[in-house]
Amino acid sequence: MALKYSNKINKIRTFALVLVFAGMILMYIGLYFKDIEWLLVVLMMLGTLLIALSTVVYFWIGMLSTKTISVTCPSCNKPTKMLGRVDACMHCNQPLTMDRNLEGKDFDEKYNSKKFQKQENK
Ligand SMILES: [Zn+2]
Repeated sequence: MALKYSNKINKIRTFALVLVFAGMILMYIGLYFKDIEWLLVVLMMLGTLLIALSTVVYFWIGMLSTKTISVTCPSCNKPTKMLGRVDACMHCNQPLTMDRNLEGKDFDEKYNSKKFQKQENK
């Protein structure tokens, strides 16, 4: 079974982009309801809210980026950024790990959770 996994930073970036578009679409729809004032106001406010939220997400990416580790992917030889113990290459989605104990193990996102790490330390 092929692993469907993508780089975390890329994922969050896509999420932020979707928020921007969703916000713009909502505002665009709002313009169609110019005659219904309350609906226009609600849609405009929701649209602004989504775009404001995406700004927060972009800011969050900036914060996370300071915690990433730059590595060269062994699979495609391109530089990529890793977040957490396990992550995937930004270019080819090759699963990567920072932890020698996890080398050769099946890729699982649970290795990044605090709960799992606590369990493992017992
Ligand atoms: Zn790669």
